[in-house]
Amino acid sequence: MKKIDYYLTIGWLYPDLMSTYGDRGNIIVLSKRCEELGIKADVKRIGLEQDKKEILESDILFMGGAQDKQQEIVNKDLLEKKGNNLKSAIENNVPGLFICGAYQFLGRYYKTADGMMIDGLSIFDLYTENPGIHNNRLIGDIIVRIDDLRFKINDLKKEGNIHKSNLINHKSLLVGFENHGGRTYLGKNIEPFAKVIHGYGNNGGDKTEGIFYKNAIGTYLHGPILPKNWELADFLIQKAIFTKYNRVVEIKDENHVLEDEAKQVIVRRYLS
Ligand code: GLN
Repeated sequence: MKKIDYYLTIGWLYPDLMSTYGDRGNIIVLSKRCEELGIKADVKRIGLEQDKKEILESDILFMGGAQDKQQEIVNKDLLEKKGNNLKSAIENNVPGLFICGAYQFLGRYYKTADGMMIDGLSIFDLYTENPGIHNNRLIGDIIVRIDDLRFKINDLKKEGNIHKSNLINHKSLLVGFENHGGRTYLGKNIEPFAKVIHGYGNNGGDKTEGIFYKNAIGTYLHGPILPKNWELADFLIQKAIFTKYNRVVEIKDENHVLEDEAKQVIVRRYLS
C-alpha cells in the first residue's frame, strides 16, 4: 500500500474557559504522541470568538472541565452557536474526549450546586444534578476498568468475579483524579465508558463511569487522563486516522515502562 502522509487537526474547545484542572496535559500528549508516530498534527484553539466551522475542520476534539461559572458561559455559546456542529462531528465518528464539565454539556441538563438549570446539548440521554452545596463533592483518585474488546489493549477476557489482586497489571485499568459536585445518571440505551473499581465515577452509586458513543468519550477522569493512560491517546489517534483516511496506523509494541509504572503506583495503593 502506498505510504501517505497523515495530518491531523486537534480541535481544543474553549481552552481559556474549560481547562481548570490540568486538562491541557491531554493536548500535550496528543501532540507529542502524533509526533512520535510520524503524524503531523496541529492544535486549533476553538474559543468563544472562533467560528463553529472550525469544529467540522477538526479530526480529534477535546474539551476539559471547569467550574460552574465557566460552564454557564460556554454552554450559552454551545447552545446558540457551536452545539450543532459538535453533534454532527460526534455523529460522524470524529473521536472526541470530553472531561467532566465538558461531558456534562453533552447530556440533557446540568443542575448546578445553587440549583440553576443549564440546558445541555442532549446529544446523549443522560442528565447531571448537583445535590447542593451541603453535600460532598466527589473528589479523589479513581480507578476504572474498560471493555477490552473495544480498546484491544488487554488480555482480560471475561467479566466474571475477579479478585482485586488479579486486576493489578492489567492494561484494562485506567487511573485518574476526579473532582465534581454533579452526579450523572445515564439513560437506558447508553453505554458507560468504564466500570468503577475505586472512586465515584458518574454518581458514586451505580459504578458506571462516563459514556462511550461512536468514537466519543465522556468521562470524569481528570488527571489529566492521557498522560496517565497513554493507551487511550493511541486509541483516539488511531480512530482519527481511520475516520479520516480509512487506514490503520500500526503501533508496534513499545516501551512504556515509566508510564505503566506510574499507573501501577496508583493501582497498588488502592487495590493491593
Ligand atoms: N462544575 C462541575 C461539577 O462540579 C464540573 C467540575 C469539573 O469539570 N471538574 O460537577
